[in-house]
Amino acid sequence: MSPVTHFFTGWALGSVVGSSKRERAMVTLAAVVPDVDGLGIIPELLTRHARHPLLWFSQYHHDLRTLLFAVMVFFFAFFLTGCRWIPAIFAFINFHLHLVEDLLGSRGPDGFPWPIPYLFPFSSRWTWSWSGQWALNAWPNLALTVALISVALWIAVERGFSPVELFSTTADQAVVRTLRKRFERTQPSAP
Ligand SMILES: [Zn+2]
Repeated sequence: MSPVTHFFTGWALGSVVGSSKRERAMVTLAAVVPDVDGLGIIPELLTRHARHPLLWFSQYHHDLRTLLFAVMVFFFAFFLTGCRWIPAIFAFINFHLHLVEDLLGSRGPDGFPWPIPYLFPFSSRWTWSWSGQWALNAWPNLALTVALISVALWIAVERGFSPVELFSTTADQAVVRTLRKRFERTQPSAP
């Protein structure tokens, strides 16, 4: 699925289990991070006319969807949150939610199902793909994304923070204020 869907999936869990902005960020980003190898597209595009182009995207994209990388993410989240287990465990879970989402609906335009090499580089066993997988731009992905954004809006009204806090606290407070004004039912005034 697209990084946007992964991000809001991550936030749905991260915003509930994280007790600080940093914890929410760690748990949320764990749902996006299996795709960071997609950044290999930049050197590949930049060098595509070079004598020795860097084929980092074509060769390595989707090779981070492994148990090894999930364990690294776990320890990363653990240490960056001051050795807290809860964010580390939920970062590990969010990482796997990304894999499930990719399994469900990430078929590319060429029909390639992007199998998940879970035990890479140690073994080629447990390489997952699902024959019913729908396309990256299919309606279930859009519906899921819209639902997850609605959840984020609801959490913003209820708990007082939105994913915008990961970029700017001031902007986040403005967003929450606006949402609360728009959605929160006003208290019925006493007669
Ligand atoms: Zn992915």
